[in-house]
Amino acid sequence: METVKFEELQLDDRILRAVTDMGFEEASPIQAKAIPVELEGCDIIGQAQTGTGKTATFAIPILQHLLADRSEENRSETRGNKGRLVKRRAIKALILTPTRELAIQIGENITDYGKYTGIRHAIIFGGVKQGPQTDLLQAGVDILVATPGRLLDLIRQGYVNLSSITHFVLDEADRMLDMGFIADIRRLLPMLPTKRQTLFFSATMPKDIVNLSRSILSNPTRVEVT
Ligand code: AMP
Repeated sequence: METVKFEELQLDDRILRAVTDMGFEEASPIQAKAIPVELEGCDIIGQAQTGTGKTATFAIPILQHLLADRSEENRSETRGNKGRLVKRRAIKALILTPTRELAIQIGENITDYGKYTGIRHAIIFGGVKQGPQTDLLQAGVDILVATPGRLLDLIRQGYVNLSSITHFVLDEADRMLDMGFIADIRRLLPMLPTKRQTLFFSATMPKDIVNLSRSILSNPTRVEVT
């Protein structure tokens, strides 16, 4: 396959500059196939393992969409702690991943690719105190990277509202199922707006993953990297 350079992908300058800072020039095969489709706003079902450049495949287009969408209307009005009406960023993108390690890694990628964008993100996962995570959420974030259990917990406590999500990523779907997160995912799905872009990634595509993907995606483009 012909190689594709990042500068050919029509990325926002602020993102391209960050990619260049990282020393990346050519898109990996999954990036070359998926990024143009994702920038069009289409859903993706991607079969790819960690190590293929999968994280940038969803992180870069989400950053680009959020840059394009950013405007005053995208800030939701929320009552501040003294009853004042304050403008707080609504969460626009949710990236769901099975483990704390993956969540941290995705967060690092967003920090790297997003460093010139002003787009803010938070990472939430279980097994640690929730205070630092809820502080970030209350300050307002654009992108939330989360493991399912802690996310549901913080939703129940009122720290997270998913009603403004426009971009949803389900990362490592097969591991999610293996780790028993299917019930959590089924609980989360109805909280997402139906009008959204969904990017679905899994290293393997057994029947139950295909079935899950059908209930989440709308007319997806299939991207495979072997
Ligand atoms: P991932 O599959 O997202 O875990 O990425 C695996 C590794 O490849 C990470 O260290 C990335 O920083 C790196 N990487 C991602 N995309 C590229 C690229 N286009 N060129 C070189 N390295 C990359």
